[in-house]
This record gives sequence, C-alpha cells and structure tokens, in this order.
Amino acid sequence: MNMKILVVGGAGYIGSHMVKHLVLAGHEVVVLDDLSTGLASQVKWGRLVVGSTADAELLASLFKEHRFDGVMHFAGSSLVGESVAEPARYYRNNVANTLNLLDVMTVHGVRHFVFSSTAAVYGEPVTTPIGETHPCAPINPYGASKWMVERMLQDHAAAYGLNSVSLRYFNASGADPEGELGECHDPETHLIPLILRSASSRSGPVTVFGRDYPTSDGTCIRDYVHVTDLCEAHALALEAMFAGRLEGATAFNLGSEQGASVNAVIEVAQALVREDGYEVAVLEGTRRRGDPAVLVADSSLARQTLGWKPRFGQLREIIAHAWQWEKRLAGLGKNNRK
Ligand code: UDP
Repeated sequence: MNMKILVVGGAGYIGSHMVKHLVLAGHEVVVLDDLSTGLASQVKWGRLVVGSTADAELLASLFKEHRFDGVMHFAGSSLVGESVAEPARYYRNNVANTLNLLDVMTVHGVRHFVFSSTAAVYGEPVTTPIGETHPCAPINPYGASKWMVERMLQDHAAAYGLNSVSLRYFNASGADPEGELGECHDPETHLIPLILRSASSRSGPVTVFGRDYPTSDGTCIRDYVHVTDLCEAHALALEAMFAGRLEGATAFNLGSEQGASVNAVIEVAQALVREDGYEVAVLEGTRRRGDPAVLVADSSLARQTLGWKPRFGQLREIIAHAWQWEKRLAGLGKNNRK
C-alpha cells in the first residue's frame, strides 16, 4: 500500500537513507529539513521543503497542503558533549520543536509517528544486553531530551490516540550499499567515519579513547547497526501501525546484538582499507567523559514484533559500505603508491 510520508530531518544521515528506502518502496515522500546539519544534496528522492519544526506556521501550511498518512522524525540534535554544554538548545530542538510537530499532527488527525530515539535513554547500563525494560535513566541532556519525547508520546497515545514507535538506536553506522548516500557530519565525532577519514587522509589519526575499560581488550564495546537495517525497521514500524497491528506508544531497541570493541573496529577497518592500499593511523588517548564500557542491545522485541531481520549484521559489511562512501567523498580509488 502506498503512503504519503513526511520525513522530518530527511537531509541528515539516517533520514536521507530513509527517504531513498521509502521512495523505492513506492511511497510518496515530502522532506522537511532546516539544513542546519543536513545537506540538500543528500535529498536525492522526494521533495525537499527547507524549514524548521520551530516554525508552527510552516508546519500548519505543510499539513494543509498535504494529507500525510504518517510522519517520521529524524530531526534531532544528537551530540552528547554538545548537549552537556548547551542543554537549552537540546530541550528546544529535541523536545519543544517535536511538540510543535505533534500539535499539528493532532490538529490534522495524522495518527502514525515514527521517532528516532536512542540507547542514551537508558543511561549507565545496569544489565547487559539492554532490553526495553531496562530502567530509563539518561545521564546527559541529549538522552534526557529523547526520553522526554518518549514520555510525551505515551501521553499523546492515551489522550489523543496517537500511535507511535520510538526506535532506540544503538550505534548507527555504515552507508547505502549502492554507494549513493552516507554519513556527512561536520564536525564528525563517530568512530567509524573518523577511522576511515584517517585512512583517506581527510583527517589526522584516530584517537582510541581509553584502553583501561573492564573489557577483554580494554577498549569500549558498542553495538554497530547498519543504517539500511535501521531504515527497514522504520518502514516495518510504520506499516505495522498503519495495518492496526501496533497501537499506542511502543519503543524498540535497534542493534545488531553483537558487541564490537573500539580495537576490533579499528582492526577490521585496517584490514579493509589495506586491500586498497591505504592505512589507518591510530593515537592512544584517555577516556571520553560519559562513555560506558559496554553498550549492547537486546533487540529481540523488534525482531519478534516487527519481523525485523537485519541484513548487514557483520561489522565488515558495515565498514565496507562506509569505506565505499568515504572513498567517494575523498575522490579516491585504489592507492597504488603504497
Ligand atoms: N571512540 C574513540 N575515538 C573516537 C571516537 C569514538 O575511541 O575518535 C570510541 C568511543 O569512546 C566509543 C566508541 O568509539 O566507545 C563509539 O563512539 P561513537 O562516538 O562513534 O558513538 P557513541 O557510542 O558515542 O554513540
């Protein structure tokens, strides 16, 4: 069944992959993005409206013009460190602006909402792997802002009959397997793109943030999940709500369920880029504030309830797709000089 979907934040990393996914599945897509971090060049499918969820008038006119069947919301600020330094910005953008969006949806009777949430809603893990019943006790304004939206969604379900699915991403990574899209953050703070930028010489060596964690090799363990698999979960969530199989406010973890250490990620990337004649440069650093030793998802609920079957569970595939994208950005081919 074809739907008309508003993708808010569709010019960003995950949103842009989602737009491609929806359009190729036959849905009509309108993208709303203020291009504060997203890029117009990443909206290669669907129609782009440049504007912000802070603009209630723009939202009203957009919802008047289009009869949306559902909304997917990716437009959040997502840097933990920045959220600690500028919490007001996070509460305004992630909470207040999302409320604007929910308001206009309520007015226009749009009842299906998919929300980009995060593993950061859990805070410091008390058990691992982390299931959805793990206590939500965020330890920074970023996680708190996402958790506040999840709470709003529960109340909107009860009072206004809004159906919503909050998808708690673990480490979103990788790139479009066809090489048409990928991660373009500025500044880049994430491990995999930083490793690959070091190999392509678009940035200096990557720093390992601590080797004194209580893990097998001393580096932090994370759960890297391919962006294409995240998109598939969003599509399944929307379809389930639309078909009446999911009602009210639900939350699912999205992860590969496999932990990989920083060291392991570097080793896999190193082996991959060497095949092309490149080399990752690594520096040793100290711990980054607020990094738990291990964050791994139990995402069995999404698998059972949504029928989600991640296609790219292997770290090597995730990094290979990200490397394909990095080579494109850096204008590289095989390096025969090395
Ligand atoms: N990390 C690192 N060096 C970097 C960036 C990240 O060692 O330059 C580590 C970080 O401490 C964490 C893991 O890599 O353990 C993943 O970090 P990222 O920022 O990619 O995602 P996060 O887990 O913070 O969402």
